Amino acid sequence: MYNRRKFIQTSALGISAAIATGNKARAQEGLSKSPVVISTWDAGLEANKAAWAVLSANGRALDAVERGVMVTEDSLSCCVGLGANPDRDGLVTLDACIMDEAFNCGAVAFLERIKHPISVARRVMEKTPHVMLVGEGAQQFALAEGFSLEPQQLSESAQRSYREWLQKSNYRSPRINVENQKEHGPFAPAKLSSGEWNHDTIGMLALDAFGNLSGSCTTSGAGFKMRGRIGDSPIIGAGLYVDNEVGACVATGQGEDVIRVAGSSAVVEAMRSGKSPEAACRQLIERVVRIKKEKAKDIQVAFLAIDKKGAVGSFSIHPGFSYALRTADQEKLVVAKSYFK
Ligand code: ASP
Repeated sequence: MYNRRKFIQTSALGISAAIATGNKARAQEGLSKSPVVISTWDAGLEANKAAWAVLSANGRALDAVERGVMVTEDSLSCCVGLGANPDRDGLVTLDACIMDEAFNCGAVAFLERIKHPISVARRVMEKTPHVMLVGEGAQQFALAEGFSLEPQQLSESAQRSYREWLQKSNYRSPRINVENQKEHGPFAPAKLSSGEWNHDTIGMLALDAFGNLSGSCTTSGAGFKMRGRIGDSPIIGAGLYVDNEVGACVATGQGEDVIRVAGSSAVVEAMRSGKSPEAACRQLIERVVRIKKEKAKDIQVAFLAIDKKGAVGSFSIHPGFSYALRTADQEKLVVAKSYFK
């Protein structure tokens, strides 16, 4: 996931004809929109394919954002799901949330040994009177719903990182810039030696042919976090927010700093007041930078947003954040603009 892939551009050949045919078919079926799906980081390219299979068959955005991120949860080579970086006790704990076009939402946090937290979050939304279940209770609910208890399956890189971390045993991730650690403590940002930012989240937003928006977010959270730590990703309004009249937003990066500005909800409010998705994301990034002052140099946060019309935009604190976009005529990775150059 850390290696940036080359941008994928689909051929433009034949696209106009396909769009014209698609628009006609949509008009006949009473459909109004050209579907769009966006998701965070380069793993989003694969995830978008699964989402697109749903959207292009005139399926629901909610199904698309669930199926899409399940691909990433399944991928043990990646940093989401059971193969991801563990906490300081060596255990992988997962956070996820999902939200549909009608303000229905569900979340799980501190969930262990369940392969698809996003699907458990959806069950919380659809089958309980609650929005969020955590820990043992979330696992108990998942088992009652037929999910199976999986063994932990740390990826090779996660095992290696954890072994290195254990050797130092100083509550500092080896993947975190040590200078930042000295200055800012164990929750300093995960900047890799390559200069890229450690990230463990996929967030996805989709607009379907019916004009409805939904979003999902799933993560193992910060690597080598304190046991019990929960970030922004399962928190509706912080890691994800969807308002079908306005737009939707997901966040990635230092969860603590997304939570303190109610990030995704605030981006949606900025779009409500007329800002474009990119301008809205930029406004919140500037707010985080203002709050963090000189510490902003050492944290990465990114917001990714879509509005009701399907326009998309993103903004991050530092360069290095990219998102995957899929529409009827585009499939590519887009590099987000950033506050620091
Ligand atoms: N936002 C996630 C968290 O703080 C981590 C990430 O996106 O990399 O748990």
